[in-house]
Amino acid sequence: MKKLTILGLFLISLKSMGVGKVKTEDEFRTVVKRFNEFWQPRVKAEMGKDLIVEALWNEERANAHATRDRDYNLVIKVNGGMARAQGMDEDGLVFILCHELGHHLGGTPKKKRGNTDIDSWSSAEGQADYFAANECLPEMFKGDDKKLSDVEIISPFCQEDEVCERVLKTGVTIGNVFAILKNTDEPSIHHHSQVQVSETNLGHPDVQCRLDTIKNGALGEERPECWFRD
Ligand SMILES: [Zn+2]
Repeated sequence: MKKLTILGLFLISLKSMGVGKVKTEDEFRTVVKRFNEFWQPRVKAEMGKDLIVEALWNEERANAHATRDRDYNLVIKVNGGMARAQGMDEDGLVFILCHELGHHLGGTPKKKRGNTDIDSWSSAEGQADYFAANECLPEMFKGDDKKLSDVEIISPFCQEDEVCERVLKTGVTIGNVFAILKNTDEPSIHHHSQVQVSETNLGHPDVQCRLDTIKNGALGEERPECWFRD
């Protein structure tokens, strides 16, 4: 019993220390560098293009975006303000990078070019979330044995699969970050978005719908009808 109390205090003090937060420019650059080193060779092998990730520590806006350079290389820009967003942690930041990579690699459905009906190079917002949860995060978490053994199984959804659980946990973190940024209610893995689209929404779905997408991606299920329509 005494042991448990001490352990409890230890966990609380770890939490108040902000473990997992990305607090310094060095930590921020390390996360970005690791992401780039993981994906750059894959992008090069598959597309013959470079993946360039720019870490803009001094930019305050909680923002990231995907673009292409003149040579059609894949570019991701992420602001320090994203790392400093309330509730954000390291896995959350990796999700943001995976979402941006998802605009490049996520496939269909794609956003349209300007006001036309022609597909652009960029996957839709929901598709970028789905790619992040279904491919990018699992690929990165799979080889990360040390951290995986620390993953606490808290949800009834993942059948004790640590990779799935860690993706889901990242979804909860990022869902809460989005909720704070959008000044809306926290989403829950036990709820679903009430939205049912009649045609695919290529823009940002509501925050609960984004968590639904991440959860479905983590569990290997189809994209939810709150944004996707076949
Ligand atoms: Zn996006």
